[in-house]
Amino acid sequence: MQEITHAETAPDTPVQVPAGHGWCSWHHGPGKELRLITAVEQGSGPGAHHRACAHCRAKYRLIPLGEQR
Ligand SMILES: [Zn+2]
Repeated sequence: MQEITHAETAPDTPVQVPAGHGWCSWHHGPGKELRLITAVEQGSGPGAHHRACAHCRAKYRLIPLGEQR
């Protein structure tokens, strides 16, 4: 008896992010070396966590979680 395997590999991802990349919350696009950033309180909303790519971290001087003092 042979099992019939269906190769239905259709990941339902809402946004297309290239392999090795992640979604950057700062430039609203896929970026590399995503790190979790504690969003700075800007007067409104809870201190949610967002991910920033290396480029945005340098641009906005963001400090990843775990590297803050
Ligand atoms: Zn970015």
